[in-house]
Amino acid sequence: MEIEFYGATERVTGSCHILRVGGRTVLLDCGLVQGSHDEEALNREPFAFDARELDAVLLSHGHIDHSGRIPLLVSRGFSGPVFTQEATADLARVLLLDSASLAERDALYHRKHPRIAADRRAEPLYTREAALRALERFRGVPYAERFTVVPGLEACFRDAGHILGSAVLELWLSEGDSRRKLVFSGDLGQYGHPILNDPETVRDADAVIIESTYGDRLHREFSSTLDELGDIFRSACRSCGNILIPAFSIGRSQELLYLMATHFEEWGMQEWQVYLDSPMAIEASLIYWGHPELFDREAAAAKGDSSLLPTLRNLHFTPKVEQSQELNARRSGAVIIAGSGMCNGGRILHHLKHNIPRPECHLLITGYQAEGTLGRRLVEGAGEVEIHGRSYPVRAALHTVGGLSAHGDRDDMLRWASGFENSPRFFVVHGDPSAKESFRTAIEQRLGCRAGIPEPGDRYDFSS
Ligand SMILES: [Zn+2]
Ligand SMILES: [Zn+2]
Repeated sequence: MEIEFYGATERVTGSCHILRVGGRTVLLDCGLVQGSHDEEALNREPFAFDARELDAVLLSHGHIDHSGRIPLLVSRGFSGPVFTQEATADLARVLLLDSASLAERDALYHRKHPRIAADRRAEPLYTREAALRALERFRGVPYAERFTVVPGLEACFRDAGHILGSAVLELWLSEGDSRRKLVFSGDLGQYGHPILNDPETVRDADAVIIESTYGDRLHREFSSTLDELGDIFRSACRSCGNILIPAFSIGRSQELLYLMATHFEEWGMQEWQVYLDSPMAIEASLIYWGHPELFDREAAAAKGDSSLLPTLRNLHFTPKVEQSQELNARRSGAVIIAGSGMCNGGRILHHLKHNIPRPECHLLITGYQAEGTLGRRLVEGAGEVEIHGRSYPVRAALHTVGGLSAHGDRDDMLRWASGFENSPRFFVVHGDPSAKESFRTAIEQRLGCRAGIPEPGDRYDFSS
C-alpha cells in the first residue's frame, strides 16, 4: 500500500494523488491546473497512470482544481465510481458543466484566432457531453458514513468546513495483515466562518496529506473583515460608481449574499442593487439553500422557515448574457458579483473593462489569487492590465478583503492538525513553495510531528 503524489505538489491547483492498495488503484481528487496558459496546457497531458485501470475516485469537494479533470478520466476509459459527499455531487454537476462550457467556448475562440498552426487549444479540453458522462459515475455519500471504496479500502467523509459538501477523507487501508489509516485534508475551511460548520477533528492517522494554501499567513479577525466590508459599502459613492466583486461561484458568492442579508440595514445595502451575474453562482446558491442540514447553528437559525435569498430584497439574478451586458451601461449603484474569482475568464472581465478605469469604482478581492492570473496582477498593484488583448488603466479603488477566504489560515490548519492524538506523519501539499515550507516547519515545531513536502512522483510506502 502506497500513496503517489501527483498533482498540487508543485503548485496550489490540480489536486490529485494516487493511492494503491491490495492491487487496486484509487485517485484522491482529479483537479484542473489553473493559472497561466502554459500551466493550463498541463491539463491536456496524459495521466501518470492508465485511466482504464483505475478502480475508483474519491473527491474531496467540488472546486474545479479538485474535480475538473474527472471528465478527462472518463473519456480516457475510466469506468469506476466517483465517491463524494452528497452536496458535492450536486455542486459538481454545476461546476463540471460550466467548466466544459468554458472549454468549448475557449476552443471556439482559438479556432477563430489561431496563433500557431495546429494549436491544441482549438479542441476543447472536454465537452459538456463528456462532463455529463462523467457525472453519471458520481455516487453521493453523506458525512460520517463509513463505506467500502474497493476491497482493502474504506472511507468516511468528514466536514471540512470549506465549501458546501467539502470533506476531509478518512481512509482505512488493509493489505494482508497490515492496517493503516490515511487522512486527506482536502481543502480546510476557517473556524467560526459563516454558513458552514467548523472543520471536523479527526483524532488518529498514520499519515496525513494536508493542504497549505495559507500555510504562511494569518487571516484578519473575521470581525474586522465584517467591519471592512461594512465600511466599503457605506462609504462607496453609490451615486457615482459601482462595486465589482470577482467571486468564486461556489462558496464565496453565497457567503457574500448571506453577509449582505444578515447586515442589510447596518451596511446600508438598501441603497445598492446587488446583481449575481453568474449562471453558475445562481445555481450553486440554490443548491446551498437546498442543503440547510449542512448549515452551522447561526445560519440554520437565520434561515428560519424560508430561504435566505428573499432576505436580500434588492438581489437580482442575471443569468442571461443580455442581462449581463445591460449592466455595462450602469454607471453607479450596482454591486456586481461575477466570476471567475481570479479574473482569468468569465463575465467579470467585461465588468472590469467598464469599471476599473474609473476611480469612483471599487474592486473587492475576496479570495486567493494564484500566480499568473489577472486577479494576482491586480492585487500586486498593476497600474495597467490587459483584458481580451487590450490594455486598461487600473484606477478603481482596490480592496483585498482577506478574511472571507474559504480556506483556513495557518492557525486554522494547525488547530485542525493538532487534533491528531498519535503524531502522524504529515505530507504538505497544495500551496505555493513558501507557504508549504513555512507550514511544514510549523507542524514540526509546534506539533512535534514529522512533516515533508513531496515532489511530484514521490511515493510513500505505508508498510515502511
Ligand atoms: Zn477548494
Ligand atoms: Zn483547492
